[in-house]
Amino acid sequence: MKDCPDCGRGLPPESFGRNKTQADGLSFYCRDCNRARSRRWYRESRRKLGHEVRDLSWVPEGKRWCPTCRSAVDEADYSRNSSAPSGFGAECRPCRRTSQNEAYFVRRYGLTRAEVHAMRVAQADRCAICGDQGAAHLDHAHSTGAVRALLCSRCNMGLGLFLDDPDRLRAAVAYLEKHGGGAVPPATGCTTPPRLGSDRRDRRGTRPGRRSTDRPAHGSAAPHRPTTSGPAEEAHG
Ligand SMILES: [Zn+2]
Ligand SMILES: [Zn+2]
Ligand SMILES: [Zn+2]
Ligand SMILES: [Zn+2]
Repeated sequence: MKDCPDCGRGLPPESFGRNKTQADGLSFYCRDCNRARSRRWYRESRRKLGHEVRDLSWVPEGKRWCPTCRSAVDEADYSRNSSAPSGFGAECRPCRRTSQNEAYFVRRYGLTRAEVHAMRVAQADRCAICGDQGAAHLDHAHSTGAVRALLCSRCNMGLGLFLDDPDRLRAAVAYLEKHGGGAVPPATGCTTPPRLGSDRRDRRGTRPGRRSTDRPAHGSAAPHRPTTSGPAEEAHG
């Protein structure tokens, strides 16, 4: 038996940690008191550094405080991290799923969901080119990866088919104005690429610098337009 000078209990040697600097090879205080003292020391030093210290002593056994959703979560629902001393991750499983999801979104689109939402509000949910309602595609400059604006499927696809090239588009305008004919009403049942935020992935994989699902590769999915004289008709006379 050894007395702990902090709690005053007489305890068996197993209740004390090891400390080679002590004559009996055991730590001065019992394990419980050492734990409490180091917790106290941690709090004091945090407080001295000006950090807020949350009192988590109320969190019941078997639960953990999640700093993200700010609630006590069952340990079974808490994320794990085998390399952390506690064995637990930084937040609960649902919070981690959300942050991983958000991280994926940012990697994929270069903006947070909140930033995309702000952009949508600023554009009044209209395509930045034609003004149609429902701009589902976050357009990127594929040469630099920089985000441009939200576009409708048709304009997004149209830019892609013209290789994002202003000269090519200007030449197309000059061509249409030279030959006349006027605009065609939008066709229904267009082939549209997956919408922004869709979980569909392109099975062919992503080429660097190009988000394969937010815009098709040049010529891979031409929009359906009502045509009166396609190449096939010409070929057959
Ligand atoms: Zn003690
Ligand atoms: Zn949480
Ligand atoms: Zn448009
Ligand atoms: Zn051409």
